[in-house]
Amino acid sequence: MSEQPITIIGLGPMGRAMAGAFLAKGHPVTVWNRTASRADDLVARGAVLAATPAGALSAGELAILSLTDYDAMYAILEPAAAALPGKTLVNLGSDTPDKARAAAAWAAGHGAHHLTGGVQASPEGIGRPESFTYYSGPKDVFEANRAVLEVLTRADYRGEDPGLAALYYQLQLGLFWTTSLAFLHALAVAEKSGISAGEILPDLSGTVAGMTGIFGFYASRVDAGQHTGDADRLSMGAASVDHVARTARDAGVDDSLPAAVLAVFERGIAAGHADDGFTRLIEHLANPGV
Ligand code: NDP
Repeated sequence: MSEQPITIIGLGPMGRAMAGAFLAKGHPVTVWNRTASRADDLVARGAVLAATPAGALSAGELAILSLTDYDAMYAILEPAAAALPGKTLVNLGSDTPDKARAAAAWAAGHGAHHLTGGVQASPEGIGRPESFTYYSGPKDVFEANRAVLEVLTRADYRGEDPGLAALYYQLQLGLFWTTSLAFLHALAVAEKSGISAGEILPDLSGTVAGMTGIFGFYASRVDAGQHTGDADRLSMGAASVDHVARTARDAGVDDSLPAAVLAVFERGIAAGHADDGFTRLIEHLANPGV
């Protein structure tokens, strides 16, 4: 049986990896990219480079969008709107939940289905069984396309609301980017102090591995609304973060990251919560004006 034709619009590292995964499974793949030369390698492997976005859409029913954000989708597809009726757009670009909801309504207005996706993998992870992607949108549309989407990663369907996949994705990315920057900050302080990244890596990795237990402890307290200072107190946390910031400054390293963390602790203390635990800060994060 011949495989389903796939259209891929957007050939950054992610779109190229996705097109490669479909080609490897024998799917006919049609691609379009603003910078056409990024398709060269895929064309050499059998992909068809469409001359226009409308031409790419007309190659099949399923179009995967791998773009920087949803504005890029409008820039590409608004002029191709006549080709949208009957298509299923699987939008795997990053953006906010509200943007995803607006895009689903926009697609429906043009007679197309829209599935929101949030890919939890690097380009190297595409086609690997441990990778997954959050999806949301119409369940029947998702189920009709689940098997072909699982060529890319395992599919984790979260519900009908088009914003849900974007929400889960951004929750993960917030943790990812802030943790990655904290890691880089630690490496900068270490390097300025004569310790290489490779030397400190096992220590930092051990701390991150232990964070899952700490997350579990904090999550149960947050769900219970229990913010007592029996395990740690905000006054201790603020002093500790201040030491981190000063250590960075003394090493000649930018301290804006620990300074931003310290500012949140100080808001909690200014509100009279110096003797409460770390999780009390969730009230300040959830209510920025308070
Ligand atoms: P890139 O930003 O490298 O590529 C994005 C694509 O969007 C390119 O094809 C680019 O075209 C196109 N594009 C951007 N703006 C416009 C525009 N205004 N008009 C037309 N085309 C436009 O992203 P990646 O390939 O790395 O990632 C794609 C998506 O996947 C992003 O949303 C990203 O957040 C997400 N993602 C990426 C991961 C990664 O590790 N790379 C991991 C998980 C998710 P051109 O080539 O012409 O510039």
